[in-house]
Amino acid sequence: DASVVIVGAGQAGCQAAVSLRERGHRGAITLIGDEGVLPYQRPPLTKAYLQGDIGFGDLVFRPEKYYAEHDITLVLDDPAVSIDRAARQVVLRSGRVVEFGNLVLATGSRPRPIPGAHTIRTTTDADSARPHGRVVTIGAGFIGLEYAAVASEAGCDVTVIEAQPRALARVLSEETAEHVVQVHRRRGVKFLFNATVAEVRPGEVVLADGTVLPADLVVAGIGVVPNAELAAEAGLSVDDGIVVDPWLRTSDPVIFAIGDCARFHHGARQIRLECVQNAVDQGTAVAEVITGSAEPYAPVPWFWSDQYAMKVQIAGVTDGHDSVVVTGDPVSGAFSVFCFAGDRLLGVESVNKPVDHVLARRLLAANCPIRPEMVAVPGFDLRTAA
Ligand code: FAD
Repeated sequence: DASVVIVGAGQAGCQAAVSLRERGHRGAITLIGDEGVLPYQRPPLTKAYLQGDIGFGDLVFRPEKYYAEHDITLVLDDPAVSIDRAARQVVLRSGRVVEFGNLVLATGSRPRPIPGAHTIRTTTDADSARPHGRVVTIGAGFIGLEYAAVASEAGCDVTVIEAQPRALARVLSEETAEHVVQVHRRRGVKFLFNATVAEVRPGEVVLADGTVLPADLVVAGIGVVPNAELAAEAGLSVDDGIVVDPWLRTSDPVIFAIGDCARFHHGARQIRLECVQNAVDQGTAVAEVITGSAEPYAPVPWFWSDQYAMKVQIAGVTDGHDSVVVTGDPVSGAFSVFCFAGDRLLGVESVNKPVDHVLARRLLAANCPIRPEMVAVPGFDLRTAA
C-alpha cells in the first residue's frame, strides 16, 4: 500500500489514521501535528475541561502506545510548511522532508481574532482563559454561549455582545435560539444585541456607540477561518476551505482534505462544517476511499452543544429554512423544531429531546418525505415516521 501522510493531528486527522489501520492499510502512516501534544478532542474546552471537571488526560483520543502498536508515526511539533506536489513530498518547519503516496490535509480552522480578547481552540487557550470576575464574551454563537454558561455557573458576572439582532443566527432557527437565550437570561447572563465592539482595552470593552463595559476577562467566539493556506500555496483549489469532490479529493487526485478545512458537496450545495461528526465521518470516509471504496461521502450532518443542563442537538443542516413546526413543550424546555424549505425537511433542532434527535437523523438518512402539515398534526409520532 502507498504511504499516507496526514497533516493535522486533530479530530479528523487522528480518525483517518485509526480508520486506515482498521481497514487493513499496510503502508506507512505519518500523522503530522503542530501542538506538541497527543491528538485530543476540543468540545470539552468550553464545557467540562473549562469547568475543571476533567483534565488533559481525559481529552486524548488514544494513549501514546496505541500509535506505536499500530505503526502510526507521530510527529507532533513540526508543522508542515509546504507541499511539493510534483515530488510528492511534504516539507516540515525543521526542514525534514516526508514522502507520500497519498496526502490527507486535516489542518482544521482557527478562530477569527479580536486584539485583546481570548479565543478558545486549544487546551493552552482554555488554560489561559479560566472564567473569573466580570466576563464579556463577544459573539453569541455556540462557543461564546458555552463559555458564558460555564462562566455563569462559576459565579461570574457575564455579558454577551452580539453584532446581529439575535443569537446563533448562523446556525439555529429563531425559535430554538430564543429559548437558549432565555435559559441564559434566567441565570443572570446579560445580552447586548446589535452591538459592535470598537476596541478591547485592558479591563474594558468599548462598543462602537461609545458604551464602556468593565471586563476582567474577554473571550471572542466570532467564527473561524479554515487553515487552507498550505493547500492554496500548493496550487490546490481553495474557496473558503479546501475544495473537495464527493470522494474528498482535492483538485489533485492523490491529495484529500477532511474536517473543518474542507469544502465538500452536500446535495446541490458546497458547504464547510465545523463539527465532530463531520471530522469523524470524513476521517473514516477518506480511509475508505484510500483503501479502495468507490462510495461518495454523503452522511447526515449532526451537531450538539451543552449549556448548563441543556442539550441542544441538530440533525441535518437547517440554514436556509423558510418555515418551522415545533413539537413538544418549549415551556418545559424539551422540544424539537422541524425546519423546512418549502415542503422539504432540512433538519431538526432538538432541545433536551435526545430520542427525537436520533430518530430525526434516521429520517433524514432515509430521505423520508416528511411535510410540514404532517408534523403539525397533533399527536405526530416521530417514531412511527422514522
Ligand atoms: P482540529 O481538531 O482543529 O485539528 C486540526 C489540527 O491541525 C490542529 O491541531 C492544528 O493545530 C493542526 N494544524 C494546522 N495546520 C497544520 C500544519 N501546517 N501542520 C501540522 N499541523 C497543522 N463540535 C461539535 O460537534 N460539538 C461541540 O460541542 C463542539 N464544541 C467545540 C468547542 C470548542 C472550544 C472548539 C474549539 C470546537 C468545538 N467543536 C464542536 C468543533 C470540533 O471540535 C471541530 O469541528 C473538530 O475539532 C474539527 O476537527 P479537525 O481535525 O478538522 O480540526
